[in-house]
Amino acid sequence: MNTAVRVQSPITGDASFLDSVEAYMDRALAQLSLPEGLAERIRACNSTYTVRFGVRLRGRMYSFTGWRSVHSEHVEPAKGGIRYDINSNEQEVEALAALMSLKCGLVDIPFGGSKGALKINPKEWEIHELERITRRFTQELAKRDLISPGRNVPALDMGTGEREMAWMADEYKRTGPSDIVNANACVTGKPLSRGGIEGRTEATGRGVQDAIHCFLRDLHQNGIEGRRDLPKMTVAVQGFGNVGYHAAKFLSEEDGAKVVCITEHHGYLWNDNGLDVAAVKRHQLATGTILGFEGAESHLQSAQGLEVECDILIPAAMENAITPENASRIRAKLIAEGANGPIAFAAEEILLAKGITILPDLFVNAGGVIVSYFEWVKNLTHIPFGLMERRRRERRNLHITQALETMTGQGFPEHLRDEFLEGGSEIDLVRSGLDDVMRSAYENMSRTLRSHPEIKDLRTAAYHIALGRIAEAYKAIGI
Ligand code: NAD
Repeated sequence: MNTAVRVQSPITGDASFLDSVEAYMDRALAQLSLPEGLAERIRACNSTYTVRFGVRLRGRMYSFTGWRSVHSEHVEPAKGGIRYDINSNEQEVEALAALMSLKCGLVDIPFGGSKGALKINPKEWEIHELERITRRFTQELAKRDLISPGRNVPALDMGTGEREMAWMADEYKRTGPSDIVNANACVTGKPLSRGGIEGRTEATGRGVQDAIHCFLRDLHQNGIEGRRDLPKMTVAVQGFGNVGYHAAKFLSEEDGAKVVCITEHHGYLWNDNGLDVAAVKRHQLATGTILGFEGAESHLQSAQGLEVECDILIPAAMENAITPENASRIRAKLIAEGANGPIAFAAEEILLAKGITILPDLFVNAGGVIVSYFEWVKNLTHIPFGLMERRRRERRNLHITQALETMTGQGFPEHLRDEFLEGGSEIDLVRSGLDDVMRSAYENMSRTLRSHPEIKDLRTAAYHIALGRIAEAYKAIGI
């Protein structure tokens, strides 16, 4: 009945992203007691499809290469974003697909794991050209059921957004699916006007904030001293795109944390009094770079942005940002992995030995897939969340406030009135659902860490839970 697929991979500093994910999996699989052969089944990627297609643009034919990988179909549909990145490759997509299986397992969302990429620099193309490329890519995926509400549901990722998701959903419908009524559920992350859901765009950043809240709450419950609260904490973010921007914005504007450093491709901004995150975003959108923002020092050495002194570091750009080469220079106390796989396997032990706590990607960036799940359910039920109950709840809450005022002879506290009377809008329900799933996942990780002496860190706890759930699903269907 032993389980271990391989002995823990002796991987080095030059290991690929896929090597790293597999090494993390091997470490956790070695601690689970699985029937012979099941570990290999779970670990292996089920399939990867490579597509090469041509699009006539600018008076000539251009060829594009893309991938869609399905890591696991123990639950269907398989779910995972599609990134547009010139550096993408097949191995990277397989690593990301595996992370999706594990993430859905950890947060207990009923999806298998998948991921896709198109090898393209989106900045080199006009919008109308990107639309034609995306529609052509969608046709190729649709031919093989790699986009479909019941089999495989893409979403946005690096380099893609709601615009690309709207094109994909529209093109999917044009391919003539038999189930046209549910066709909108073929991708998530769509704009609201095309079947999206409130709160999806910022969901991953919101989840990063929730993840940090869960961790700090847990520290307080344990009575561990010496940690400061968020308003006194400093934050550094690498990657000022969807995930990094929203996480920085919520932590600074809502929690009062000081975002002292923002790093992008070409350098980083530093202000030890804290940056105005929304103003930096406006500057980036207007000029194409964060550098030159007036309220901060601009530095050209992008790599050093990760190494600044701070309480919380949020790598939210790409995989393998922290390797054995720079791990010893990281000075954060807590790392919340906004990106997928930002810490290479061989770098992790250096960070842990320095006493740095790591909140793992499976948990920290799960907000995207959690809210995607809500969007998918909304598309399949064809009714916005809360529609049937909102006004009834508002009426009931109004009657409660009136009854309390009559009984006590005092007015209902003004600062609570608006929130109490609100019957539950879609955004409220999405945020409440996201918070709930994140808290349950954290509690589960924390309990696992405490109850298994052989598990020493939150990442291994997360993998342990996720792999255990996937194993149960496979055992139940007998494969
Ligand atoms: P994005 O394209 O919106 O933003 C990424 C940002 O990182 C860009 O601004 C880019 O310029 C910057 N960047 C890239 N390489 C960099 C480098 N070497 N140094 C500094 N900055 C760099 O992408 P995103 O959607 O925010 O995704 C970021 C990460 O989060 C990826 O790993 C992605 O897989 C992961 N993720 C995203 C979501 C989501 O819902 N968008 C969900 C889960 C995980």
